[in-house]
Amino acid sequence: MRTWTGLIDSDYRPWLPVTDRTPVVSLNEGGTPLLRSAHLSAITGCDVWLKVEGANPTGSFKDRGMTVAISRAAEAGARLVICASTGNTSASAAAYAARAGLAAAVLVPRGYVAPGKLAQAVRYGARIVEIDGGFDDCLRAARDLAARHPVALVNSVGNELRLAGQRTVAYEIADALGRAPDLHCLPVGNGGNITATWQGYQAYAAAGRTTGSPRMWGFQAAGAAPLVHGAPVPAPETAATAIRVGHPATWDGALAARDESGGIIGAVTDEQIFAAYHDLAARDGVYAEPASAAGVAGLLDRHARGLLEPGRLVVVTLTGNGLKDGDAALRDAPAALRSSAAPADVARVLDLAAVTA
Ligand SMILES: *Cc1c(COP(=O)(O)O)cnc(C)c1O
Repeated sequence: MRTWTGLIDSDYRPWLPVTDRTPVVSLNEGGTPLLRSAHLSAITGCDVWLKVEGANPTGSFKDRGMTVAISRAAEAGARLVICASTGNTSASAAAYAARAGLAAAVLVPRGYVAPGKLAQAVRYGARIVEIDGGFDDCLRAARDLAARHPVALVNSVGNELRLAGQRTVAYEIADALGRAPDLHCLPVGNGGNITATWQGYQAYAAAGRTTGSPRMWGFQAAGAAPLVHGAPVPAPETAATAIRVGHPATWDGALAARDESGGIIGAVTDEQIFAAYHDLAARDGVYAEPASAAGVAGLLDRHARGLLEPGRLVVVTLTGNGLKDGDAALRDAPAALRSSAAPADVARVLDLAAVTA
């Protein structure tokens, strides 16, 4: 059996913008699990699969694009890479830059990045600049710096390479299922991922690898849903920080994915997002970060409103790993799950006599 050695060295190489001269900067990203959810399939009457992107090397789908972006930045002789981030892009950029021997600087919104993501950027040795403002302000500053200084911007805006790498998720799904799904659900923040995933399905169909493409169902948090309202949101709010974006850079791409696929971009409340986040871990054993659960929350919302036909083949992207945001996990931990006891008292506290009776 051939072991997995990352996207650029995989069978997907011909689909990526690299040449023989491109040094391969990889952490063996991609090749993530596609798990069937018995729980979500039973609720919806569909065949629901989870693409677990939190299993990537830095814990999010961002690694798919970053292996391409940093490999090409290294090829071009870049010395410093820069990005704006809600957290996961900075963790990924910092890791791949470290591997390539490049310096990295990341701009993040002060107070709105999950602690695990900051910890990653610190350990990978990136310079971290916390900005008083939101992600949109960080992105504006990063683009401005890249326009005026010889640094490589590795945000998906202005970096087609990121999107090219992120398309691979669609190739993996189609290859694993033997066909494209009927429906693909995912969270939407800055709009890059829905754009890239849709482009991936289309590229595979155009090459005759699949016969159709799914409808794309993207979901934003209700307090940060510019694509749903059709206008930027000046002060986006959601506890799902990875999608706390008020002015998506890949606006047109996200709407094209929606319209060309016959899909939708809808809004889900934080309450729905956190309920899905809870159930994914407790019912499916998949610990995804809160924003990652927006696709599941949206699927369930559409089902509850009679807008999901049963019998469909559905894939939901779980974009990032729950371990990144331990604060969110413990914030509302059910009291019944946690107690303390003296060693001799554990059987009584757990009520083992009743449980095993
Ligand atoms: C980046 C990110 C998103 C949003 O993806 P976009 O490409 O910005 O739409 C969603 N979930 C997680 C965990 C992310 O890191």
